[in-house]
Amino acid sequence: MDISVIVPLYNEEESLPELEQWISRVMDEHGFSYEIIFVNDGSTDRSWEVITDLARKNPAVKGVSFRRNYGKSPALNTGFRRAKGDVVITMDADLQDSPDEIPELYHMIKDEGYDLVSGWKKKRYDPLSKTIPTKLFNATARKVSGIKNLHDFNCGLKAYRHKVVERIEVYGDMHRYIPFLAKNAGFTRIGEKVVQHQARKYGTTKFGLDRFVNGYLDLATLWFTNKFGVKPMHFFGLLGSLMFLLGLLAVIAVGATKLYNMHVGNHYTLVTSSPYFYIALVTMILGTQLFLTGFIGELVVRNSPRRNEYEIEEEIKTEE
Ligand code: UDP
Ligand code: MG
Repeated sequence: MDISVIVPLYNEEESLPELEQWISRVMDEHGFSYEIIFVNDGSTDRSWEVITDLARKNPAVKGVSFRRNYGKSPALNTGFRRAKGDVVITMDADLQDSPDEIPELYHMIKDEGYDLVSGWKKKRYDPLSKTIPTKLFNATARKVSGIKNLHDFNCGLKAYRHKVVERIEVYGDMHRYIPFLAKNAGFTRIGEKVVQHQARKYGTTKFGLDRFVNGYLDLATLWFTNKFGVKPMHFFGLLGSLMFLLGLLAVIAVGATKLYNMHVGNHYTLVTSSPYFYIALVTMILGTQLFLTGFIGELVVRNSPRRNEYEIEEEIKTEE
């Protein structure tokens, strides 16, 4: 099979028939063998009935339906586990992404050697409240992930070599950082294609402004797990030691002040009257706690089945 198209959706009943028609038209025109996997993320409207109908008319249409709403990432991951095509394409259900981009995306993966190609909505048809924070978000994502050539991390329209979707696991809200996940799995040929974007035709956006707060927190998590995931002590131990050192210096300052005061005959000054006393107290406790957090982190890693999982590209084995 050439192409699997994965469409995560939550309450998009009006868009689905148009989308299915458009995708299959493009596929037939180019002679691709394909499947469309609709992942119904617990819709409360008639989306699933519509999908069942479409599947009756077109055998290339497949569907999975969650009992409740889990989010876009779980929906995508479920599609990834089922995709059979050499090239896997993800696309939003709301007709904001154009299926006309599929042939070129396919070509970039198949012939130009990209592992992942992300759409870039260079000209966006979204409200300003979304486009401005998105610019900031993408700048941060570029910096933290080190993928410098991507303008639009969270574009719903993306194409993947099949091996990539096998090897990455999208969970929580991590769909915003799939290129980062792919890079961490060793797929470094990540490209970009300017894509057409349209205003939402039916229904409303399924994400609120909390997307930006959560987006930043997730980026911090990815940065941390990528860097210190199997060696948390390197993070907590360093911080803890620095804190403790600061505390130690403060203790010395407290002691020295006390001795000086005694030397000049001022016997009754209390150590609590020195600011260094409080600095010492706080930083030494914090330092110890950070250090212990590091040990707990190490215990968790020690018991994680993933602690010795690596991406192996090739291997040479000789028979005995
Ligand atoms: N979506 C989903 N589960 C959710 C929220 C969204 O499957 O919990 C789907 C949604 O139906 C659409 C895609 O994810 O196909 C992108 O969502 P939306 O268009 O609302 O996001 P926006 O374009 O506003 O960023
Ligand atoms: Mg949309």
